[in-house]
Amino acid sequence: MHKIAVIPGDGVGPEVTGAAWNVLEALEVDLDYDYAPAGEQCFQERGTTIPTETIELARKADATLFGAVTTVPGQKSAIITLRKELDLYANLRPIKSYPGIDSFYSDLNFLIVRENTEGLYSGMEYYTEEGAQAIRVITRKASRRICEFAFKQAIKFDFNLITAVHKANVLKKTDGIFKDVFYEVAQQHGHIKTEDLYVDAVAMFMVTQPQRFQVIVTTNLFGDILSDEGAGLVGGLGMVPSANIGDENALFEPVHGSAPDIASKGIANPTAMLLSSVLMLQHFGEDFEACRLEGAIRNVLKEGKVVTPDLGGQSSTREMAREVKNKIDS
Ligand code: ATP
Repeated sequence: MHKIAVIPGDGVGPEVTGAAWNVLEALEVDLDYDYAPAGEQCFQERGTTIPTETIELARKADATLFGAVTTVPGQKSAIITLRKELDLYANLRPIKSYPGIDSFYSDLNFLIVRENTEGLYSGMEYYTEEGAQAIRVITRKASRRICEFAFKQAIKFDFNLITAVHKANVLKKTDGIFKDVFYEVAQQHGHIKTEDLYVDAVAMFMVTQPQRFQVIVTTNLFGDILSDEGAGLVGGLGMVPSANIGDENALFEPVHGSAPDIASKGIANPTAMLLSSVLMLQHFGEDFEACRLEGAIRNVLKEGKVVTPDLGGQSSTREMAREVKNKIDS
């Protein structure tokens, strides 16, 4: 039995989490779930974007499925708070092509592993007399655990090349440490090939020859930018899942936001949320069920008949999710 905290959030969040949950019920995996509020509506009702009970429920759960939240200006971000509170240090973004999708490439399968807790997003940003400054924090501890995580992912998913991405020619100290730690960790995994590249070169290679990549591991800001570039390569926001993983907790969420422009219309593409559920199943070691679900999603996309308007179809979120459910055993 896996205990899941479900945080639907705002906008299309509840629509895609509801759809995903419906599909998950068709699998042979024992899931128990509790709902918890967060986001803008939660703020209006309870005066906080992320109640303590929500954090505690996520902490006690085996995993959290997170829809999307609308930002409330001046209030803390629910997702950033969860990442911090649960020490979800690894952000994982598979960049994978699926058939039937209008995208730049149809043959991509690589993984971006982004450090989630420090770098330029350490939260240390100050006004100065001249303007402002932000502090880029790179620790050996966080670099080591993200590199170790990347090697574990490579082993788990049978990748045999890991690319460390940095800018150590300019950021000599911070990225110097990141690069050194990467090669220290690499020594323990002699059978996996390694390389390191500058982030600007990687930004170009991701456009010109993305097939060369298998696992990319990088610091927070570079990972943030490269993973959106990756999303753009395989069909955009409605398609891309993500995982935030720590030693004790894990949270799975679509890359897209709450999409207020299409909320309540019932037309949000559920694929990113469904693929996030695939990542959750893989995290639990439920590889067979993860394959069944991913196969069903792939078939629905390939046929292209029952898909949402952003994919060129005319179906609703529910209809597309139902089609995935029907395909699970067909
Ligand atoms: P937020 O502030 O919550 O991030 P946003 O509108 O800035 O919201 P997204 O929610 O990611 O950012 O939406 C960006 C665009 O992508 C919007 O036009 C939205 O309709 C579209 N979009 C996002 N998610 C989906 C989805 N699941 N299905 C279809 N279109 C989507």
